[in-house]
Amino acid sequence: MFSKILIANRGEIALRVMRACKELGIQTVAVHSTADANAMHVRLADESVCVGPPAARDSYLNIPQLLAACEITGADAVHPGYGFLSENARFAEILEAHKIVFIGPTAEHIRIMGDKIAAKQTAKELGIPVVPGSDGAVTPDDDAHAIAREIGYPVLVKAASGGGGRGMKVALTEKDLDTALSTARSEAKAAFGDDALYMEKYLGKPRHIEVQVLGDGRGNAIHLGERDCSLQRRHQKVLEEAPSPALNAEQRKEIGEIVASAMRKLKYRGVGTIEFLYEDGRFYFIEMNTRLQVEHPVTEMITGIDLVNEQIRIASGAELLLRQEDITFEGHAIECRINAENPRTFAPSPGRISYYHPPGGLGVRVDSGVYQGYSIPPHYDSLIGKLIVHGRNRVECMMRLRRCLDEFVVDGIDSTIPLFRDLVDNQDIANGMYDIHWLEKYLSSDDAG
Ligand code: ADP
Repeated sequence: MFSKILIANRGEIALRVMRACKELGIQTVAVHSTADANAMHVRLADESVCVGPPAARDSYLNIPQLLAACEITGADAVHPGYGFLSENARFAEILEAHKIVFIGPTAEHIRIMGDKIAAKQTAKELGIPVVPGSDGAVTPDDDAHAIAREIGYPVLVKAASGGGGRGMKVALTEKDLDTALSTARSEAKAAFGDDALYMEKYLGKPRHIEVQVLGDGRGNAIHLGERDCSLQRRHQKVLEEAPSPALNAEQRKEIGEIVASAMRKLKYRGVGTIEFLYEDGRFYFIEMNTRLQVEHPVTEMITGIDLVNEQIRIASGAELLLRQEDITFEGHAIECRINAENPRTFAPSPGRISYYHPPGGLGVRVDSGVYQGYSIPPHYDSLIGKLIVHGRNRVECMMRLRRCLDEFVVDGIDSTIPLFRDLVDNQDIANGMYDIHWLEKYLSSDDAG
């Protein structure tokens, strides 16, 4: 086992990783920018190193500084959290070259899954169902119209290097195709320096359902069920739940087995998430995230498995001890991402938290790095914390969530708590009847607030 882990991240996820390290008896090193000198992850770590000025590219993304911090403190492994360098294959390789363990999959697997065309091709080869679409990239020499006709309209033009929904354009009919291709191409070139495009069938009312996997890199892999993350705004997840209200136990087992078997073939190491769109009873692969997800706690709440603990054990070379039959799903869990944003306009609201009172009680978990008197810096994402509640069933979970939102006080800045308070009272949400477009429609309707 490792003796000291450097956590190359900040905020709630740095704390989350630190908690797992402490329970494993591993020393922790926090890194921070000058803007984060008073952050909770710095206070709770055994040691801390300042790695640069506020801008993430100069601190949390600054590989030479992070390496120096490992060297100074004698850390033997790095946990990247999510975001920042968590899906950077080069970072994984550099650490390895310095005999420091990257707590994550191999650089090769990160690289394959980071390229959308390669990821889709790999998924297909591994027996994972994918969205019907072009066979690889669509080049300017290809007859895009013929390919699109074969897929069937509406089609979605996507950037191979895409992320955050950029470089994605819908062509509802044939006459939209040329414009969709040219705008996607220039957007992709500007945003990612890569204008490779591909096309797929556009699904009109899908849910976003993702499967959590855990593998040990030796061919053992299991699934930990799914999460439903259909409630999104601008392709960003807002609320996640497990299990999905749209699946029954049989469907869960079926898709879980397909994914676990694919990960066994791939000899995947660590935690990973296979994301699907789900429509009319069918799953369509969209991407794989080769890291811990923001919404991992909902899976932990219904399985009782500490995913970060497993991640660390596997990275240290241990075999996966959990068997698929050991995994059972108890009750229901929902996570709300509470952001420092105006609940109507979503304008960021950094600043000082003058009063803070998180909810508590049975089945309640708050993963957050903030405290009363803390100032949320303007340089990073606006997450105040994640409220995760567990109940014996979805109805109990929703009742508990409503109670927790009433109890949660964050004063001095705007927060999205009132939005969630409205959502728990909505009939569609209560019934679990929502797709990936539901929230945007709700926000632009008169029902909101
Ligand atoms: P990114 O990496 O840019 O976030 P994804 O491929 O993960 O791109 O897709 C982001 C979101 O775009 C999905 O969650 C879904 O809302 C929408 N989307 C992607 N592919 C399709 C599709 N084929 N049909 C309909 N919507 C899609």
